[in-house]
Amino acid sequence: MQPRPPQSRSESAFDDYKLPLLRDAAVAEANRCLFCHDAPCIKACPTAIDIPQFIRKIATGNVRGSAATIFDANILGMGCARVCPVEVLCVGACVYNELEQPPIEIGKLQRYATDIAYDQGWRFGEAGPPTGKRVALVGSGPASLAAAHELRRLGHACTIFERRAVVGGLNSTGVAPYKMRADRAVAEAEWVLAIGGIEVRTGMEVGRDLTIRELEGGFDAVFVGSGLGADSRLGVAGEDLAGVHGAVAWIEAMKLGRVDVSSVRRAAVIGGGNTAIDAVREVLGLGVPHVEMIYRGTRERMSGYAHEWAAALSEGAHAEWEAVVTALEGDRCVERVRCVRVDAQRRPVAGSAFTVAADLVILAIGQSRLGELLGALDGIVVEGGLIRTDAAGFTGRPKWFAGGDCTNGGKEVVNAAAEGKRAARAIDAAISGKGHAHG
Ligand SMILES: Cc1cc2nc3c(=O)[nH]c(=O)nc-3n(C[C@H](O)[C@H](O)[C@H](O)COP(=O)(O)OP(=O)(O)OC[C@H]3O[C@@H](n4cnc5c(N)ncnc54)[C@H](O)[C@@H]3O)c2cc1C
Ligand code: SF4
Repeated sequence: MQPRPPQSRSESAFDDYKLPLLRDAAVAEANRCLFCHDAPCIKACPTAIDIPQFIRKIATGNVRGSAATIFDANILGMGCARVCPVEVLCVGACVYNELEQPPIEIGKLQRYATDIAYDQGWRFGEAGPPTGKRVALVGSGPASLAAAHELRRLGHACTIFERRAVVGGLNSTGVAPYKMRADRAVAEAEWVLAIGGIEVRTGMEVGRDLTIRELEGGFDAVFVGSGLGADSRLGVAGEDLAGVHGAVAWIEAMKLGRVDVSSVRRAAVIGGGNTAIDAVREVLGLGVPHVEMIYRGTRERMSGYAHEWAAALSEGAHAEWEAVVTALEGDRCVERVRCVRVDAQRRPVAGSAFTVAADLVILAIGQSRLGELLGALDGIVVEGGLIRTDAAGFTGRPKWFAGGDCTNGGKEVVNAAAEGKRAARAIDAAISGKGHAHG
């Protein structure tokens, strides 16, 4: 049993953003599906779940079969049903959009089947006959969990090294609680690990508690699913004032119940990506009366999803567009954010300086990249802090494979799950001598 974060007081402030479907509604929605040949929704899913098949099984009352179809493609199908940005993936690709009718609620149907599977204690995917091969995995996020599960189906013993006390990676510590709470993410990790034969060593940082050479010498293959690093900094005066936090660190503390915003009246979130929008919605959800997002680009060009920003707006978010932070000011604690407007080339506009009052400032301008961990190994190319691999996840150095955020620069849980599983198959081919040259 992994250490499980209690549902924190902060997390309990949030309701489910997308309400689950009850049985009759799920069956009715499933019966709307056109069960398209060459279904575009499947192509839009990085794990290529056979969506019409799992929906058809819900329509015929075969929920167990539906869950089996989902988990066979994506063992993290329960979490993905909650956290995937379906609006830009499967649901966005549904043919009903072209017919100008509401697309099938694929995420909610997936949640319906997978929640029942968890509640009923059904299990899917058995460990294969032991091969005697051992694989190390760096990190316990979605990429490593998906890789380890697939490796166990293929019969290889696995050891996961995780530097934190809690398993699950950003699924546990980053994803917004109105999508999935930390305890649910850890429960998902336990459910995946229950296939057996996966040793999890938490509190073990590769590079500090264990060298990469030790890993290489002690295992038949290594999968690196180490994700991204610490929050990036702005590089302006005042960044070390109390009340200024990196978004990923603040969200992790919030999810673990370690933040207190009871005295905060006004907050500012710097950035325009999905992490920035999550932070805005989380601070609002905790009851801070005024939350301002400050973004250097326009609303149209923000990298955060339009549907997420629309939700933030409906919850009372404010924004300053085309504004760059020049300093953070205050007397020990942050009190204001100094900004200047910028033009389309991000050049400051003369005479446009302004100030935003804030007693909490969250910097959501990206995460650093951890590629240097492997940069010293011959045969591994680290570009811009990301580990380069081929399409199968092979790094170029025998034994070493990678996937998830540390290779793709930060996408979604479903991408990490797909890449982890794909690398597991490449590892199997390499260590089983199945004609692959990577071993
Ligand atoms: C704030 C935030 C919100 C997000 N919300 C969503 C969302 O709603 N939906 C969605 O699909 N995606 C979301 N994502 C993205 C998603 O969480 C990531 O794409 C996904 O978790 C990547 O999985 P991973 O396994 O590659 O890395 P991670 O989840 O980052 O896991 C990496 C793990 O490796 C460990 N580790 C790192 N270095 C070492 C080392 N040297 N030794 C041992 N362990 C190490 C880390 O502690 C961590 O547990 C969000 C990301 C953030 C930052
Ligand atoms: S595209 Fe829409 S209607 Fe067609 S199979 Fe997928 S969910 Fe069903």
